[in-house]
Amino acid sequence: TKWVYSFGDGRAEGRASDRNLLGGKGANLAEMCSLGLPVPPGFTITTEVCTYYYSNDRTYPTDLDQQVEAALEEMGRIAGRRFGDPEKLLLVSVRSGARASMPGMMDTVLNLGLNDETVEALAKDSGDQRFAWDSYRRFIQMYGNVVLGIDHDEFEEILSDEKARHGYDLDTEFTADQWREVVGLYKEKVESEIGRPFPQDPREQLWGAIGAVFNSWMNPRAVTYRRLHDIPASWGTAVNVQAMVFGNMGETSATGVAFTRNPSTGEKALYGEFLINAQGEDVVAGIRTPQPLTEKARLESGSDKPSLEKAMPEAFATFVEVAKKLEAHYRDMQDLEFTIERGKLWMLQTRSGKRTTRAALKIAVDMANEGLITREEAVCRIEPASLDQLLHPTLDPNAPRDIIATGLPASPGAATGQIVFSPDEAEELKAHGVKTILVRVETSPEDIHGMHAAEGILTTRGGMTSHAAVVARGMGKPCVSGAGSLRVDYREGTMVALGRTFRKGDIITIDGGTGQVLAGAVPMQEPALSGDFSTIMEWADQIRRMKVRANAETPLDARTARKFGAEGIGLCRTEHMFFNDERILAMREMILSDTEEQRRAALAKLLPMQRADFIELFEIMAGLPVTIRLLDPPLHEFLPKTDEEIAEVAKSMDVNPKRLKERTEELHEFNPMLGNRGCRLAVSYPEIAEMQARAIFEAAVEAAKRTGQPVVPEIMVPLVGIVSELSFVKKIIDDVAKQVLEASGAKLDYLVGTMIELPRAALTADSIAREAEFFSFGTNDLTQTTFGISRDDAGAFLETYRKKGIIEQDPFISLDVDGVGALVKIAAENGRATRSGIKLGICGEHGGDPASIAFCERVGLDYVSCSPFRVPIARLAAAQAAC
Ligand code: PEP
Ligand code: MG
Repeated sequence: TKWVYSFGDGRAEGRASDRNLLGGKGANLAEMCSLGLPVPPGFTITTEVCTYYYSNDRTYPTDLDQQVEAALEEMGRIAGRRFGDPEKLLLVSVRSGARASMPGMMDTVLNLGLNDETVEALAKDSGDQRFAWDSYRRFIQMYGNVVLGIDHDEFEEILSDEKARHGYDLDTEFTADQWREVVGLYKEKVESEIGRPFPQDPREQLWGAIGAVFNSWMNPRAVTYRRLHDIPASWGTAVNVQAMVFGNMGETSATGVAFTRNPSTGEKALYGEFLINAQGEDVVAGIRTPQPLTEKARLESGSDKPSLEKAMPEAFATFVEVAKKLEAHYRDMQDLEFTIERGKLWMLQTRSGKRTTRAALKIAVDMANEGLITREEAVCRIEPASLDQLLHPTLDPNAPRDIIATGLPASPGAATGQIVFSPDEAEELKAHGVKTILVRVETSPEDIHGMHAAEGILTTRGGMTSHAAVVARGMGKPCVSGAGSLRVDYREGTMVALGRTFRKGDIITIDGGTGQVLAGAVPMQEPALSGDFSTIMEWADQIRRMKVRANAETPLDARTARKFGAEGIGLCRTEHMFFNDERILAMREMILSDTEEQRRAALAKLLPMQRADFIELFEIMAGLPVTIRLLDPPLHEFLPKTDEEIAEVAKSMDVNPKRLKERTEELHEFNPMLGNRGCRLAVSYPEIAEMQARAIFEAAVEAAKRTGQPVVPEIMVPLVGIVSELSFVKKIIDDVAKQVLEASGAKLDYLVGTMIELPRAALTADSIAREAEFFSFGTNDLTQTTFGISRDDAGAFLETYRKKGIIEQDPFISLDVDGVGALVKIAAENGRATRSGIKLGICGEHGGDPASIAFCERVGLDYVSCSPFRVPIARLAAAQAAC
């Protein structure tokens, strides 16, 4: 097997499409080489080695050693150097690189190959003693931490002691001899920690680093990251070994990162940051505040440090060309890493850049308009779930603002919450439903769980490409970074701003769009859904086949749904219309009635409320289809619980409270979800269905009169398992229709259909379709009954199932295609066999989940229905499914 792929000098054994084998970084390094761009030579050890490593007790294939040797040889040949040879010194970097980018999650070692002998060679080569010894101490520190497992702080402590001893503020003040002393102290530290000296043999160093990268695939933060991003552990990481180039060889050297377009706004302009005389880690770590790349950005930011454009015009010009070439080649916005060594530009990475949703939309629309990609591609470039970010509020521009600091607008959106200073606290409070803002000096990959739990992130150090900024943008969380005027004291649990002290638990607001940090909560504003968003939505609507409806019952929900582009209501849960104080009383009366007479009295109170609700819904939906489901209340949700509530209902019904209490007890069910609900209720108490049907038809007649548009109500019977249940209820509906239409003299078309939400219904869909004019898949109940797990109780163990790898996804969130999906397919096919044009839809939560929507397209459903806020997501996902 070929385990190692070389690249360099305009040639490469791999290419961009080898991403699964070489990881993203390796594949793109190979591609850049083949494009003739300046890339330091190197090689990639494949992800298959990682897989081999983990399935063979962390050992390597026997022939790997030989292949690595050959690749080292080739790299040396291209570089005109030789690994391990002090005469022709070749230092390397060792970096991870998985199929999907996992920023900062795994380990990297730079300057590898340095030892007591080669450090002298480096000094001679570079003509710079100070640089050589600084590089060596960086290497010991990195290697000591990543490979030998020594805490980073152990080294930092030595460093700050030395700084204090010399009275220095900055690392840059150390002289060559002082760095040499630090190296000595570091080496002593290593020896005392691991009981043997720091490894001097470059090959031992190399294999140590390779092993560390493979091991880091399983480190807790990488495992968490994969879980959050649904990346399977089986993918593995590749290892990239590459000749070192140095951005820290003095004032003509630099290192930086850039995006070919602005990752925050999408603006078409090179965007990035760099540091003179620094190594890559210095930029990303956010320890020194970097300088902007272009003059334009410098002027806009008011930075007093020169741009790269000004400081190194030639290298900058080359870089601009390279960036253009890469964007055109990959046909997407690229995220670039580069180093300039003594004026010469080297490319270290290119990949599709992470971006905010706003930027993603602008870039997709712009690129389609530029002719770089098609409209279909533009639509497919937007992650449907990410639209959520746009649908979220921003600060009300007219609200008073108590600004306590201003940092960088690192990730848009606004958030309010309690100050917490540690990621664990954010996670803990989140578990209790408390919203937090995570406040850190800077963030590191260890903080990721807390960043996920917090509403927003605030840092006092670091630029737009600092860890906090990159990760927050990826998560779609508001983030303000580098708010340098704030003083954070973790030990005291305080944040001082302009002389005011804020403590853990105090409420603050951050505005990731402007970088403002504000005291207290600030009123928020709904987003405007225009511009690039509506363009993409328009294109999506031209592409998709399935219709998108909303689950809505209140006028507010219905209006929101239409604003978001819903093409009708796919599920109106009538029981939800009775969840307010005034109405629940009548509902309780109805449920607790002993006799039909009592029940009819209560129903008579409900009828006008229902009718008025339906008229309003029909009016708002103005001719669009509206599916109204007959009452499906798991009774326990409506029963009075306290004595007070019982007394209230008793009074209103004019019955003895004691008797009423007994009645509640009679109605108690051990398993209400499988109890007397859905159509069973209509079979037990036909007068309920009668009242609802009457309300629907009378409302339809009235709304048609008012709007002048025909209303075609779709009446849906829930929880049918047996066709005769449906026949029974359908007869009630048809009879009421006849009465109402005769009485009013109006004409009206209507449909009667059913939910398919029980396995028996799915399996007997052919007979059910004789009665049903449409099916709507209730995949919430269908998942519950197919798995035999309760939707109310499963949360507790499903998470464990996920962690233990028994299931990959919560089946209540993303449709279980193999099981529940099989039932959906059978029902769709058999339903169509009986009634060829039968209308098919889905109204379970899955109707708003992109992966489930893709499944619905495959089965050929006519529409999906989801909650109003997910309608745009569903429109986009339906388009992508149709592409
Ligand atoms: C379903 O079961 O999928 C459904 C939409 O109905 P409910 O969630 O109201 O039971
Ligand atoms: Mg249901």
